[in-house]
Amino acid sequence: MASVNILLQQLTIFGESSGLVINASKSSIFFAGVSENMKQAILSLSQFTEGSFPFKYLGVPLSPHRLLASQYSPLIHRLESAIQNWMGKYLSYAGRLELIKSVLHGMVQFWISIFPIPVVVISRITSLCRNFLWTGDMLRNKSALVAWKQVCLPKYEGGLGVLDIKARNDSFFAKHLWNIHLKADSLWIRWNDYPLWRVAPVQQLFSSWHSGTSNFTANAYDFLRLKSDPVHWANVVWEQWSLPRHSFSLWLAMLGKLQTRDRLQFLSPDPICPLCQSADESHAHLFFNCDWSSSLWRKVRFWLKLYSNMASLSRATSVLQNNKKGLQPRMRRVSLVVLVYLIWEERNKRIFESTSKSVEAVFRKFQILFYTILYFHEKNHLAYNVAF
Ligand SMILES: [Zn+2]
Repeated sequence: MASVNILLQQLTIFGESSGLVINASKSSIFFAGVSENMKQAILSLSQFTEGSFPFKYLGVPLSPHRLLASQYSPLIHRLESAIQNWMGKYLSYAGRLELIKSVLHGMVQFWISIFPIPVVVISRITSLCRNFLWTGDMLRNKSALVAWKQVCLPKYEGGLGVLDIKARNDSFFAKHLWNIHLKADSLWIRWNDYPLWRVAPVQQLFSSWHSGTSNFTANAYDFLRLKSDPVHWANVVWEQWSLPRHSFSLWLAMLGKLQTRDRLQFLSPDPICPLCQSADESHAHLFFNCDWSSSLWRKVRFWLKLYSNMASLSRATSVLQNNKKGLQPRMRRVSLVVLVYLIWEERNKRIFESTSKSVEAVFRKFQILFYTILYFHEKNHLAYNVAF
């Protein structure tokens, strides 16, 4: 009781000197390991109400115990209401991806940096994001074009760089453990002697994350996430000057995941390529074995003065991949991204809208997009025209 008295006196002195007077009716006190008599005496002395766990602080429930999955419902509801307000079915894949990365992950970040999230909650968040990306609707569960574990890989490993929530959550907790370790001299830490620190490999691993070039959490995340081999085409597909929806189409094409007719045999009885009408449609055919698309590709290459052998997407991306930031290498990468988008768009219009454009008309569309992108990034493009 003496300690409580001193604490209350200090709060009163603080209130008098700062003007920040404690409002007892709005204050709560939380008890653990105290007898009922003592509890009543403290409550009567302080005039505070008795608080109970979990309570919300800055919108997040706080508890001395691990939170139950049901206590994550405020987070799940926030994510659901954000998705419901977005009219996702009118957005492109690229638009939805941007919302997942910027808004949904922003909401999740705060929680996963504080709590160890139960597996069932992580699966719920993942399925909301996955359904939204592929259907625009959190409840519609159409089969995804690309597996989520691939989506979560970084772009240079063939993914979309979407957050792996489990790995991120674990990396935050590794950081908390590391911070505890750094305070190993403190009395509290010595009382709780954490057995993990007696394991040499764990100490070495955590030390390497601490001393790396990135921050600790980023190094831990990179260690804990799923990995794959680097792909050669990442800097072509994700060329910064390209439009995101164009890049997304090329990304799907590079993975062989566009829904060409050879992949839809059960849904589409007609396997013929709608562009040339003379061969079965597949990724290899469409880009660029097809007579129609190869004559378009020839026009583009002639116009760009690209004379290397580029008979397939894989070959074209190999030739164009480099890290050069100059105008010409950039615009050549942009050109391939635009071209694949236009071929896929023309193919879809022929199937779903029964309209068709000539190679010449699509080439003009290509030139308009080319100059629009060029002008957007390089206002003095007229001075550079000679390069093309
Ligand atoms: Zn064809």
